[in-house]
Amino acid sequence: MPSDSIAAVERGPRANSQIKVEDAISVLSGHYGPFEDAPRLDPAHEVVLTILSQHTSDTNSARAFRLLMDRFGTLEAVAAAGTADIETAISPGGLARVKAPRIRQVLNLVLQLNGSLDLSFLREMPLDDAKAWLRQLPGIGPKSAGIILSFSLGRPAMAIDAHIYRVCRRLGLIGPKVNTEKAHEVLEAAVAPEQVFPFHVSFITHGRQVCKAHRPRCLECVVAHGCPSRDQFIDDGPEAAPPGGSRQRGAKSPMPHSLATGEVKT
Ligand code: SF4
Repeated sequence: MPSDSIAAVERGPRANSQIKVEDAISVLSGHYGPFEDAPRLDPAHEVVLTILSQHTSDTNSARAFRLLMDRFGTLEAVAAAGTADIETAISPGGLARVKAPRIRQVLNLVLQLNGSLDLSFLREMPLDDAKAWLRQLPGIGPKSAGIILSFSLGRPAMAIDAHIYRVCRRLGLIGPKVNTEKAHEVLEAAVAPEQVFPFHVSFITHGRQVCKAHRPRCLECVVAHGCPSRDQFIDDGPEAAPPGGSRQRGAKSPMPHSLATGEVKT
């Protein structure tokens, strides 16, 4: 659905964008893309990687995932393992005492519900049903379900993390009273299905690199012309970079949520 046909009520109260979401996607994708090709995991492995990625950096979660698979070989073996052994394997990734029992619990629940760890049936399910199926798993909320469906299965599911939420708020694409859960619905209605993935990777990259939480670099921002928040942050200090920033054209940006990325979440 194009953004100009979105009723204000769908964008939430007092959304005040000066740029269409499809234009923002186009500008940001053109600026930060192309993105590195990332190997796709099957959905069960993506579930585990997503749990490992919660509240830590992509670097740490990728390291913990590799260590887990090196130690156990298969997810079936992880499901059958003791929590302490899983915790030891993933400890370099952080929060291992929380994540080890969760991973074990989730894998065993999937086995109980599905009879196997093959979640490929989620590819054919209606999108809302696929989200609901994943969200019955402990620790899998709307963002995690969106990441699994989008990154593993190529489904047009929104995954709104803190970076994307902040950029959308500042650009006025969602109103100030729209919470992150509601933002999933609002933005899924606003972004065309084929644009969901470019939206995700370009907005998260913009949030990490330029539209940072504490000191957004508005003078480097390629969508500043359409940003109603710009004046509140603008700083004409001597280090300010020119509009468009110093990013080398043609360089590939790391893919968020990738096993290969070195990006650190803030
Ligand atoms: S102008 Fe500033 S606040 Fe607005 S999107 Fe760009 S970096 Fe973020």
